[in-house]
Amino acid sequence: MIFLFIAANQQLEAFKNKIWLSSPTMHWDEMNYVKSAYDSNWMSTIGENIDEIERIISQKIGRKYAVALSSGTTALHLAVISSGIKPGDNVFCSDMTFAATVNPLMYAGANPIFIDSEYETWNMCPKALRKAFEKYPDTKFVMLANLYGTPSKFDEIVSICKEHNAVLIEDAAESFGATYNGKQSGVFGYVSVISFNCNKIITGSSGGMLLTDSKETADFVRKLSTQARENAPWYQHEFVGYNYRISNVIAGVVRGQVPFLEEHISQKTELFNRYKDGFNSLPVTMNPFDENMVPNHWLSCLLIDKSAMSRQIRTDTAATYSKESGKTCPTEILETLASFNIEGRPIWKPMHLQPVYKDYPFVSVAETPVSEDVFERGLCLPSDNKITIEQQETIIEIIKHCFD
Ligand SMILES: *Cc1c(COP(=O)(O)O)cnc(C)c1O
Repeated sequence: MIFLFIAANQQLEAFKNKIWLSSPTMHWDEMNYVKSAYDSNWMSTIGENIDEIERIISQKIGRKYAVALSSGTTALHLAVISSGIKPGDNVFCSDMTFAATVNPLMYAGANPIFIDSEYETWNMCPKALRKAFEKYPDTKFVMLANLYGTPSKFDEIVSICKEHNAVLIEDAAESFGATYNGKQSGVFGYVSVISFNCNKIITGSSGGMLLTDSKETADFVRKLSTQARENAPWYQHEFVGYNYRISNVIAGVVRGQVPFLEEHISQKTELFNRYKDGFNSLPVTMNPFDENMVPNHWLSCLLIDKSAMSRQIRTDTAATYSKESGKTCPTEILETLASFNIEGRPIWKPMHLQPVYKDYPFVSVAETPVSEDVFERGLCLPSDNKITIEQQETIIEIIKHCFD
């Protein structure tokens, strides 16, 4: 085994740089649009690049309106405000997600109630959502994230929301370009949000966008994002405003990236399929999805079978494990990858386990919460578009040897 590691190491020495979980994949076309912002002197939160990304992306996703904003997080904040969430309101929220799904609820003074995941997509469990509506029948809002680029079970989720007259907000930050029954992620919420953060499927270095079919909501969000100025000869304000609009320079980067969305998705899909093939002899599964879904495969993830899990102990800030023959755990795999300068990551730690959110309610229909179990046994694999077939074969070999 040592020799195999040395061989793998030599092969990896040829890799010039660290292998990233997911890093920006640029094409230089972006520079033309950035330059046009300079040339026209629209170094501003107004400009052609902004208008164009709103036009192209709303058309691509199939929504009437889009508002480009400074980040996915600020877009979610305005999604929360424009959906009518007020201080003290309960909001059912995905439990296994990145904290940026929840934080905007806190900015607005809402009470998140975390909903467990299911095993078929790792997203919000419709059964747990039903149970939550029985327990908290007055709840009028649902905040749902599509994890790792896999759409949620929207048929069930949307119909449960309709039954209870609840407003759905779709956090599609990770799932731009994925489809459910042929419909693009980003059409399912009353408002939906995508992100152009540096590690997402396409990037502006930063940036985000809110999508909706309501003109009133789009106009309101656009106004709030530019300091809530009223139509008057002076600065006149009826609402608390924000400075959340995207820059025309950043929008130029996004504009140059949009034509490469499909290419990025197909690279990520090939990566996912090669991992799946490469691991077919191991006691593991990949992050799952239903047959009516086409994920964008933003991140490929691995779930170790229960029977093949070695003992792993995680405190709030550190992890240890014991080496057991024929078994491994996410900590061992991640530490081994890191020793080869390869970046993986644990599954997003569930919100109900986070010190900042642990006192908020959590609803599950499982004996052991699904989110806790996936966090325990799962990990995010290196999923960068630029990983070569040879590099990926080495990554697969390294992981296989963790099971020795
Ligand atoms: C990245 C991400 C966000 C936040 O987007 P930013 O553009 O980084 O602010 C929100 N939700 C999820 C699920 C994300 O992965």
